[in-house]
Amino acid sequence: MTKKIKTKKLTELYFKMKADKTLPLQESATNLVFGAGNPAAEIMFIGEGPGYWEDQKGRPFVGNAGKFLDQLLHSIELPREKVFITNVINYRPPENRDPLPEEIAAFKPYIDKMIDIIKPKIIVTFGRFSMAKFIPGVKISNVHGREKTIDWKGREIVIIPMYHPAAGLRNGEVKKRTIEDFSKIPDILTEIKQIRVKQIEVEQMKLI
Ligand code: URA
Repeated sequence: MTKKIKTKKLTELYFKMKADKTLPLQESATNLVFGAGNPAAEIMFIGEGPGYWEDQKGRPFVGNAGKFLDQLLHSIELPREKVFITNVINYRPPENRDPLPEEIAAFKPYIDKMIDIIKPKIIVTFGRFSMAKFIPGVKISNVHGREKTIDWKGREIVIIPMYHPAAGLRNGEVKKRTIEDFSKIPDILTEIKQIRVKQIEVEQMKLI
């Protein structure tokens, strides 16, 4: 799928989501926070849900956690325009409470569709709710920064679970761990690309 087609499909998905009156939390929210970034991103970041500023602006990670995310991206020279950022729920919960299981379930088809369209090589999950979508039954303190390859509808995606950036703002030790975890991203991406090149070579050899 070309970037142009991905952009068109994501735009269609945005309008479908905006028109979906069955989605929870929309009565109390100001804006839908669909997600933002490059429709052909190799890396996708999935957080928890919009906070106050995200709800006001309709864009993900634009408050304090977003400022920390910008620092993290800057530390590996990865501009926001190259990645795609979204959340497991796309309307702000009242008082920034945790998302409920039924809320995560209601938004799931849309998040899954975003992944299907973007086809990222890596998904970085921020916090336990996003991690549990791909790697259930584990503790973030045990697995943060450790990549895990999953099968996503017949395609491999490398999941890198990380602490939520907001947790890093509250705790210096967690902040340090998150900076370390982030620094691994470029090497992981290079490795994935090298493996893919080898796979293509092997596939081509079979054709000879
Ligand atoms: N926290 C999140 O999980 N997502 C945002 O978009 C902002 C803060």
